Amino acid sequence: MSDSAMTDYDVIVIGSGAAGLSAAAVAADDGARVLLVEAAGRTGGSSALSGGVFYAAGTSLQREAGIVDDTADAMFHYYMTLNQYKLEPSLVRTLCDQSGPAFEWLRHIGVGFTQDNLYASGVDKIRRGHRATGDGAGLVEALDGYVSGKGIDTVLGTRVDTLLVEDGRVCGIVTEGQAVRSAATVITTGGFGANPEMLARLYPDAARHGDLHWYIGAPTCLGDGLGLAAQVGGQVSQTNRGLLLITPGFARDLESYLPGWVMMVNRDGRRFIDETIEYSVLAAVLDEQPGQDCFAIFDEDARLSSKTTQYRPAPNWTAERLRDHVDAGTLTSAPTVEELAHKLQMPPARLATTIERYNAMAHSGSDLDYFKPAGMLRPVARGPFYAAHIRPAIICWTGTGVRIDTEARVLGADDRPVPGLYAAGETTGGMFGQCYAAGGASIGNAVVFGRIAGANAAQERKPGPN
Ligand SMILES: Cc1cc2nc3c(=O)[nH]c(=O)nc-3n(C[C@H](O)[C@H](O)[C@H](O)COP(=O)(O)OP(=O)(O)OC[C@H]3O[C@@H](n4cnc5c(N)ncnc54)[C@H](O)[C@@H]3O)c2cc1C
Repeated sequence: MSDSAMTDYDVIVIGSGAAGLSAAAVAADDGARVLLVEAAGRTGGSSALSGGVFYAAGTSLQREAGIVDDTADAMFHYYMTLNQYKLEPSLVRTLCDQSGPAFEWLRHIGVGFTQDNLYASGVDKIRRGHRATGDGAGLVEALDGYVSGKGIDTVLGTRVDTLLVEDGRVCGIVTEGQAVRSAATVITTGGFGANPEMLARLYPDAARHGDLHWYIGAPTCLGDGLGLAAQVGGQVSQTNRGLLLITPGFARDLESYLPGWVMMVNRDGRRFIDETIEYSVLAAVLDEQPGQDCFAIFDEDARLSSKTTQYRPAPNWTAERLRDHVDAGTLTSAPTVEELAHKLQMPPARLATTIERYNAMAHSGSDLDYFKPAGMLRPVARGPFYAAHIRPAIICWTGTGVRIDTEARVLGADDRPVPGLYAAGETTGGMFGQCYAAGGASIGNAVVFGRIAGANAAQERKPGPN
């Protein structure tokens, strides 16, 4: 397009999910001429498919709901402790410190948030999960609305596969054989959940169960950002990170939770957790069990009374569907506990002991071992008995990615920022440990670091006419 002394744009943003739209919006607000390039036929990526929950502390919505004492400090302490400090503290600190301002910005640009949709989305008791009105689609719609009319050039259906690099500085992109020059470039291409090769290499837990795995994010999230950053020595931060949801493998329906009334046992025939625990913790705990899987056990009375609820939709867990799954061989059934144990290759006597103890606690209304709420303790008493094989196999998002600093600058092999290159959102790494801190932390990451990347990239524009 232009010779090397000139730029076509001040800022090029690659990918238009929550991170990319936030970066583009902030850069444009700071006066930059912005090009937004998106591989898919429409904006939004996985952000548009998401629940739209944003994890933040010290927000106006919290105060309106009477939560007046929550702070970024408290959020940081919780986030780091939950993951035994095995993440990048400076990035998490920025995420926590900026979560409040980023939330207020989202509200300001028109994303709806109501007190009804403010909830404790982590394993703490503080209501920090702010669900956007209209979920992820609503969040993206508001971001789209805000960036339109700002003079941002948006190109859809165009996948960027190469950075333009001169003397170690990123000067733009090459797409479909054409170079487009910019003072700064921001990579916001999302995760790599749709790329089996990359999953096997960088997130082996998400490849362990073979064909059972499936990805619920956008099909264009192929990990391109990692390849682009690698072109200039970009590093990959923390392998084997992301969020896997457990599944009985009945069908490719997204059921984030199992019914809380099942009794879960590992291959040794022992319970190991409160079955109602948050999904963010369950997959990590399952990792510690023999075979990294478990079985959800229940009896005929439970099957007959099982139904899906509006609060936690579980279409596969109705009496009729469960019967269909037995017929299809995806749910194991046996007339006695002993036969069930044999089918599961589990020590029969121990499974019998576990069930006996569980039933006694169900009758007394008190789970002395794992402290499951009394209302979810349902005896396993009358045959036939059932066992669903549970594995962490639904890939929600990936948390391994490009190494950045707190200014969203991509760090090169020498740990110095690569001139002209920024990254934000799911394409980056360092913010996630083995336990997902809370629903909303991924969108939080995308918006917080998208805004930082956009603001810093805008600062790189050259003065005067280009
Ligand atoms: C069903 C579901 C529910 C979820 N719910 C929540 C939730 O409630 N709260 C939460 O915090 N997290 C949630 N997550 C995770 C969260 O949505 C994502 O981590 C987050 O939205 C990622 O934002 P992003 O902008 O980094 O990436 P994305 O939103 O995925 O955007 C990346 C964009 O880059 C584009 N792209 C990729 N490669 C290229 C290329 N080479 N050239 C040009 N464009 C490219 C993609 O097409 C895509 O549009 C959920 C995820 C899913 C799948």
